[in-house]
Amino acid sequence: MTIVEKDAVASVHYTGTLPESGEVFDTSEGRDPLTFLVGHQQMIPGFEEELMGAQKGERRTFTLEPERAYGEKIAEAVQQIPAEMFGDITPEPGMTLMSDVGPFNVVSVEGDTVTVDFNHKLAGETLQFSVEVVDVRPATEEEIAHGHAHGPGGHHH
Ligand code: ZN
Repeated sequence: MTIVEKDAVASVHYTGTLPESGEVFDTSEGRDPLTFLVGHQQMIPGFEEELMGAQKGERRTFTLEPERAYGEKIAEAVQQIPAEMFGDITPEPGMTLMSDVGPFNVVSVEGDTVTVDFNHKLAGETLQFSVEVVDVRPATEEEIAHGHAHGPGGHHH
């Protein structure tokens, strides 16, 4: 029987909650399961670690501290930039925008100065996951060469 291990392709249903508030920040409920190639940095590190050895049909619940999830918040990732840099967009607090170096959130706007945060929204958070392994199979050589899963729930190209 295939288990969750490096170079396996796992399909999982998952629900992620913030243990302090109970808020669900992400879930596959109502969607197709998430399919990923194990051991190729497709997922946050702790998510894979906690599923290692699991079989099809197995459910696991685990808690990840920030260092095994999205990392700690980095102070330098909070920056102040002039509003004119936004071009046609009027920045407002709470907005998530895309830049050359990834997504960022608008924290506050004071006059012509916009404070933005490049930290991941879940940086610094402890995350709780409830995961059900709905399928696990060996990866194909092509998938391993590409570093991602193919087929339903995976990459299409
Ligand atoms: Zn591919």
